[in-house]
Amino acid sequence: MDLHGNHIVGAEESADGREEFFGVDPATGRDLAPPFVEATQSEIDRAFVAADEAHRELKQVPSAKRADFLDAIAAGIEALGDELLERASLETALPLPRLASERGRTCAQLRMFAETVREGSWVEASIDHAQPDRKPIPKPDLRRMLIPIGPVVVFGASNFPLAFSVAGGDTASALAAGCPVVVKGHPNHPGTSEYVGEVIRATISECRMPSGTLSLIQGKSIETGVALVKHPSARAVGFTGSLAGGRALFDVATARPEPIPVYAEMGSTNPVFLLPSAFDGDGATSLAAGLHQSVTLGVGQFCTNPGLIIAMKGASTDSFLTKLGDLMSGTPAGTMLHSGIRFGYEDGLARMRHIDDVEEKVQGVPYSGLAEGDGRCQVHASLFSTDAETWLCNPVLADEVFGPTTLVIQCEDESQMQLVAENLPGQLTATIRGSVAELRAKRELLATIEDVAGRVILNGFPTGVEVCASMQHGGPYPATTDTRTTSVGNAAIQRFARPVCYQDMLTELLPDALKDENPLGILRIVDGRKTREGKVKT
Ligand code: NAP
Repeated sequence: MDLHGNHIVGAEESADGREEFFGVDPATGRDLAPPFVEATQSEIDRAFVAADEAHRELKQVPSAKRADFLDAIAAGIEALGDELLERASLETALPLPRLASERGRTCAQLRMFAETVREGSWVEASIDHAQPDRKPIPKPDLRRMLIPIGPVVVFGASNFPLAFSVAGGDTASALAAGCPVVVKGHPNHPGTSEYVGEVIRATISECRMPSGTLSLIQGKSIETGVALVKHPSARAVGFTGSLAGGRALFDVATARPEPIPVYAEMGSTNPVFLLPSAFDGDGATSLAAGLHQSVTLGVGQFCTNPGLIIAMKGASTDSFLTKLGDLMSGTPAGTMLHSGIRFGYEDGLARMRHIDDVEEKVQGVPYSGLAEGDGRCQVHASLFSTDAETWLCNPVLADEVFGPTTLVIQCEDESQMQLVAENLPGQLTATIRGSVAELRAKRELLATIEDVAGRVILNGFPTGVEVCASMQHGGPYPATTDTRTTSVGNAAIQRFARPVCYQDMLTELLPDALKDENPLGILRIVDGRKTREGKVKT
């Protein structure tokens, strides 16, 4: 497929703007053809006109057809073959095997939502039949279910050019809910975005879905994203990225004359608590190896990267630090996703260095062997250590540093470890490592981190997020802007739906999900009882 560099506005291509930008190869700093153009307000308006129309039409599309559409997008992405992966690798420096597995995850997500839609019970249908003879006042017939919220704006993150981008989890769950989507393509992988956007455009046409079901708006400026969120037709926002970006868009959305929900999944330091028994056995060798792998995976560019390790002061922790330090200093330099992320990493390290009593055990200096024309994205892994007192007095040390680094916090005793847990900001994950006996004795620590994190991990590592019904990928602010939701797993669909109640509605005008016969065969609550039964039509 030849890239055109245009926006996809409903069924049409468009490139009215003048301001050009390019995808960039982070390994070399080279611009990658073709040029893309910043979206204009008129293109944004047209994308929403198409989305509004699609919203009305999608209401008439049977759920089985919507499910087939999601399956067909997955098949279309797979059919692109290596071409897609090669472009994504050029734009992000992520290796091909990693991208192949991310493509697998992206397609599995689309198929998972197709099954959720086919099964149908996600609409949470509930029926309370009328009681006309109830005293002192009659009870009306009430029926409630979830319906699509309307056009959704999706922002993807640079570190998942497929699984959290144009056809990523936010788009898949919004389409599954029956919402049209306007995607803001990430400026650091515009070509990858176009490949996937074109697959969706072709699938919309093949599956005879409304043409405005998805638009792809490309842009490098913050104003483009802000204009999308401000648009009066936007009904919700799905965002994956930095705290700064997510918070800025959340503020824009809540300041609108008509505020809309923003489901922003942002950064996290993913604390790992090492109880004394965590060092048992091989004297911390395997623990250091496991944490090293988790911290440096993908040049540390995972939102579940373990950025804080909390342990008790003592010989075991000293030996663990030495082992982890050896592994970190022996880690080859890696290429980050783009120079912005690389400079963010450097700033994060500088922030830590400036605090007294924070020791830089392994110097994460930027890669020094820059060649001519280098993309200036190469970095080394780093390791810091401090005491709990210093960490507690410097809230900045609780901030995410996105990259291959971690901070080991050494506590005097158990109560100080508990105090660290109590002072953690909201997290995507928190991990405890220790023996069964120790864990049983540490219920207070477990209860504290349960209040702070979306996923509590026992004796594992935080990187690696399964896509399934029981996954929770979210957490209290600043991990997300809505702690009640998840961006991974079947439950993500609920973010893009809203409940509506029909009172004394004519049967023929009710959605199938709420008809007495239960024609969809879904699980419902009928007069307080969970059932798939339906009334036989007489
Ligand atoms: P990013 O810089 O925040 O970019 C994400 C998107 O937001 C881009 O499209 C970007 O567009 C837009 N954006 C950023 N700031 C904005 C602002 N002030 N106003 C309007 N739009 C704005 O994030 P990233 O660097 O791509 O991704 C890395 C971050 O994502 C890390 O912090 C990581 O922890 C987080 N992440 C979280 C998850 C999760 O599930 N919670 C998953 C992956 C990554 P422009 O570039 O055009 O501004």
